[in-house]
Amino acid sequence: MKRILPLILMFSCILAHAQNNSLPYENTSVVKIKSLTPEIESALNAFDVNYLSCRSHACVPDVIVNKEAKNWLKDNGVSYETLVEDLKEKIDRENQYMNLMRSQRDGEAWYTIYRTYDEVQDKLEEIASSNSIATLINLGSSYENRAIRGIKFSTGGNNKPAVFFNGCQHAREWVTVMATTYLADQLSQNYTADSFIQNLLNIVDVYIIPIVNPDGYVYSHTTDRYWRKNRQPNPGSSYIGTDLNRNWDADWNGGQSTSTSPSSDVYVGSSPFSAYEANVVKNYMQSIPNLRGHLDIHSYSALVLGPWGYSNSQTPDHAEVVSLGNAMNDAITNTNGYPFTFGTGDANGALYLASGTMPDWTYDGLGALGYTYELRPNSASGGGFELPESQILDACEENYNGAMEMIIWAADIQSGCTDPSACNYNSNATVDDGSCAQIDECGDCGGNGPAPGYDCDGNCLTGETLNISMLDSYGDGWNGSNLVVNGISVTLNTGSSGSEVLCFDSSEGCVEVNVSEGSWPAEVSWTISDASGQELLSGGAPFTGEFNCDVQVSGCTDPSACNYNASAELDDGSCAELDECGDCGGDGPLPGYDCDGNIECGSGALLSIEMIDSYGDGWNGTDLIINGESFTFETGDNASASLCYDPSQGCVSVTATEGSYPTEVSWTISDASDQELISGGAPFTGEFNCVEPVSGCTNPDALNYNADAEVDDGSCEFTPVPDSQTIDLPEGWYTFSTYIEPINPSMDVVLAPVYNSLIIAKDGQGLAYLPNFDFNGIGDLNNGKGYLIKLSDASDLTISGTKLLPQDYQMEFNVGWNMFSYLRDSSGNLEQMLAPILNEIIIVKTFDGTAYLPEWNYNGIGDFIPGEGYQAKLTSSVTFYYPGN
Ligand SMILES: [Zn+2]
Repeated sequence: MKRILPLILMFSCILAHAQNNSLPYENTSVVKIKSLTPEIESALNAFDVNYLSCRSHACVPDVIVNKEAKNWLKDNGVSYETLVEDLKEKIDRENQYMNLMRSQRDGEAWYTIYRTYDEVQDKLEEIASSNSIATLINLGSSYENRAIRGIKFSTGGNNKPAVFFNGCQHAREWVTVMATTYLADQLSQNYTADSFIQNLLNIVDVYIIPIVNPDGYVYSHTTDRYWRKNRQPNPGSSYIGTDLNRNWDADWNGGQSTSTSPSSDVYVGSSPFSAYEANVVKNYMQSIPNLRGHLDIHSYSALVLGPWGYSNSQTPDHAEVVSLGNAMNDAITNTNGYPFTFGTGDANGALYLASGTMPDWTYDGLGALGYTYELRPNSASGGGFELPESQILDACEENYNGAMEMIIWAADIQSGCTDPSACNYNSNATVDDGSCAQIDECGDCGGNGPAPGYDCDGNCLTGETLNISMLDSYGDGWNGSNLVVNGISVTLNTGSSGSEVLCFDSSEGCVEVNVSEGSWPAEVSWTISDASGQELLSGGAPFTGEFNCDVQVSGCTDPSACNYNASAELDDGSCAELDECGDCGGDGPLPGYDCDGNIECGSGALLSIEMIDSYGDGWNGTDLIINGESFTFETGDNASASLCYDPSQGCVSVTATEGSYPTEVSWTISDASDQELISGGAPFTGEFNCVEPVSGCTNPDALNYNADAEVDDGSCEFTPVPDSQTIDLPEGWYTFSTYIEPINPSMDVVLAPVYNSLIIAKDGQGLAYLPNFDFNGIGDLNNGKGYLIKLSDASDLTISGTKLLPQDYQMEFNVGWNMFSYLRDSSGNLEQMLAPILNEIIIVKTFDGTAYLPEWNYNGIGDFIPGEGYQAKLTSSVTFYYPGN
């Protein structure tokens, strides 16, 4: 026998991938029979029909029918409505959609398609590992040996109040698996973020089991989309499965919507808890010490049902059952405005009784309040068990809010505003529910201030008050008559009288009044009065008229003004011109913006930023940070923004933080011409505009001007304006020197300006330059030296080049005679100038014999003069520097 096992496993794998759970529904439709009599029901039973829900001996009239059954309905004139024409096609579409989307969806998007047993197990493990107070629990195994697992939230401690939530007793009720997994997921996430949830879970232990019928659930995915029962064989019958929710020991086999035939969808089993899974879950629930509440979550019908379900008698706890039931029903209904109904028993005949259900056992067997939820939709026409995927998250949120009411109830806390400074402070509240409010400007607690156009007393902010009094002589409202004043419509909905207040501007002239006829115009009458009670107009229905036509209309009377009012007779000084943005009377664009409201970047450039979220719920905490400026969006699938930057400043850093759902995030940064600069997702670190701007000399006047350079790097070079010195050379002999380092030091070039009068130039060694012979025996001018020169005529010698700094130019003297230069640009006392070497000096003299004789303490020279050269005789060779200029 054991050798068969691998074969079975292989076969079941093939089934799992084949997704042919639509096959049993080939050529079937879902119809709603307008009036389902026992006669029709028994006739239909011959055609192997499948009621989507049955209670007692009556079934809801939503029924899966094959072609023959449909023909029978037609032939026998039974009135019905087709809800689903081709059920197989519908199931196939659901499978296709799931296969298509499964690979693309994670994160929050987990709740946008129905998930398999294996996917739910992975999700439970993820939830348990991400939260310190969440534990993965295993209640036991199904008949086919699948784990029945869930999440337990507990902060520890003994005997704390506990609540138990489960989905999927019935295999085909797929949305219940999603809703219970979502409940665990959200409690886990909110526990870390929300102090109210933290407080609750510190008080209450919460158990959540998404799939208590794993075998049936897997079978509904692989083989039969509409399978309801478990997959346990029934001895002596070829029919498989027990209805888990008829197998509990509370009025078991009590005959209310039950069957003892294994072929039935409501088969009760051979005895209470004969179904493996019911027994496993029962044992676990019995081990919870202080279970206070239980939700058994089903679909579909949009109902909240309290105990008992098998009897119309009220439980001893009826008041509390109703109170909690209504609270949960309101919380669910208020979530998305999808209306649910609460009831117990058969809810005054609107529902049917049922025996052997789980919540009744919770109440009878464990003393906890056990409820049934029937999630969306409310009918087969809304999708039935195949609630559209787009509504899964709505159903999850509704179930979450309902379950929260039970947790709050079990915690037995008083929630409310705990902030003593709030206007709705509740001193009895122990847990803050986030409702704290402040007094608005009109003195209303939690109000939003006055309505637009009115002050806090309901008076008009501009213009005057019109009081409209409406009467209906029959006392049943105006039956469709509407009073329209200057385009604003009012009416009397009920009763014999009512009033409305409108605002109008009496300076604007005629006010038009129209009253439509309605169904009972003879009953209608009305009066319009001003604030002082003065009647302005009255009438009945239908009516067309006007009032306030005798005032002089004031306004702008200048036809050239943009607010010229052709009917104005009196100019009120309001005439205005168009501003530069084309707005009449506007003040032009805001500083920093252009007329379209776009940022103006001045010398910078505009970046446009496109942000996208593939799931469509905003960026969940991701921030895009560009050069330190942060961008994000909270809702929707995209947003855009602008930012100025300076392209010449090089790299722009871009980071995107991870947030909660980074795989949904993408973004693009473009320049003003829509050229993409950088794009990416989250998390991200990068930069753009890192092409170094070309640097160089940007001054067109410079020798090295670079036309491509964008940034001046200070390298510009210009033709230097040379320094120069002009020396007055006398006729005859003279000794000259210069503080200019000539551009070209060759003596013939230096003396070229005086060429015509120059006879000879000589240095201290007697070397000569003889222009008449074109002979330069001196070579280059040495700035440290003086030169003897003889001219035929007095001439100015201008020497151009670089001015020397005397304090940096080392003067060198030899023992004996030296012909030397004076390097300062102004006169200076000889003894001060030569102070460092005075002790070595025997004599200093000029070209004409004027002398300085230190031995005789005689200074006939006085000051050294710029341009002149001198001779000196020294006792030793020395070097020195002149003082600076
Ligand atoms: Zn169910």
